[in-house]
Amino acid sequence: MIGVFGGTFNPVHNGHLSLASEVLKAYALESIQFLPSYLSVHRGQPEVAAEIRQQMVGLAIQPYPAFSLNRYEIERKGPSYTVDTLRHLKNKAGSEPLCWLMGADSFNSFLSWKQPLEILKLAHLIVCTRPDVAPDEDLLSEHYLAQGETLAGSATGKIAFFGMSPNTCSSTLIRQQLRQGHSPSDCLPLAVLKFIQQQPLYRT
Ligand code: ATP
Repeated sequence: MIGVFGGTFNPVHNGHLSLASEVLKAYALESIQFLPSYLSVHRGQPEVAAEIRQQMVGLAIQPYPAFSLNRYEIERKGPSYTVDTLRHLKNKAGSEPLCWLMGADSFNSFLSWKQPLEILKLAHLIVCTRPDVAPDEDLLSEHYLAQGETLAGSATGKIAFFGMSPNTCSSTLIRQQLRQGHSPSDCLPLAVLKFIQQQPLYRT
């Protein structure tokens, strides 16, 4: 199974890296592709260009051989609809199941995404816990893994909930801290923090 981890990554942080590392191990995924969005549909254009956000992702994942950068949404440009991206990735992956990784906050708004049911025909979802966010357990419950069922047992359409070690890092918080002149080194990989300081980014 291949993991696909979409996000704005504005900037990528240690919460993203922990999520991906823990999911990789827990579900024995072959690899995880980090997929920075070009234009996040629900948030509008982030103030930091996609090219810069993807550079930070590249720096963050360098120490992890199972992680790679997927530039598909950035090269496609326009609004980054997950369903369109997954159609492309599914064509490439063939019979290898795809797992879309997300946090509980993203899952709770999943029904507002473009064609959510179509997304479930293309991939599984792995929903990770996030502090202070309770996943909506009524949402699409017919897709939840039953007792004894595994993601590998089907090609698409299953939703798994994963209790990752609680991580309070958030891009919004990091941007706020940087604007106030702090260096949130607990949440930023060193290479990313250095890059942000060199550019500099998130100062205004
Ligand atoms: P923001 O703080 O601005 O909302 P973010 O930190 O959630 O940003 P995104 O790039 O939007 O960063 O996140 C990509 C995905 O990673 C989302 O599905 C989000 O739920 C998940 N995620 C991010 N941080 C965490 C975390 N600390 N714990 C669990 N999931 C997370």
